[in-house]
Amino acid sequence: MSNRPIAQLPGAARMLCLSRRDGEICTRRAGHLGLHNRTGSSILWSDVNADQPRCPGSGSAATPAPRLADGYPNGLALCPVCFAFVALDVGTLSEHDSWRGDATREEADQRREWMNSHGW
Ligand SMILES: [Zn+2]
Ligand SMILES: [Zn+2]
Repeated sequence: MSNRPIAQLPGAARMLCLSRRDGEICTRRAGHLGLHNRTGSSILWSDVNADQPRCPGSGSAATPAPRLADGYPNGLALCPVCFAFVALDVGTLSEHDSWRGDATREEADQRREWMNSHGW
């Protein structure tokens, strides 16, 4: 999946736009002007035809992700579509927006550690 290298670089991803279209993620700087683009590809898109923020992985069957020593991700499951950690609703991923980078440095570090320990 083309999203994986970005999901594996959570710290760097915080600086990126991360608009999505058909599974491609914009790798231009957050807040950039002009069309969205995945670096190294010729795929361009605008906000009009970007994917909706709601992740299509919502409602998929999932199980809680393995925990780090500190408990992270605290019983959440990894969404196979957008790589967010998402709360479970009776064995399925609850409704969520596609992952757009971690809110805090600490979360980004935990995500990185998790990916290193349990990721692909
Ligand atoms: Zn963009
Ligand atoms: Zn998702």
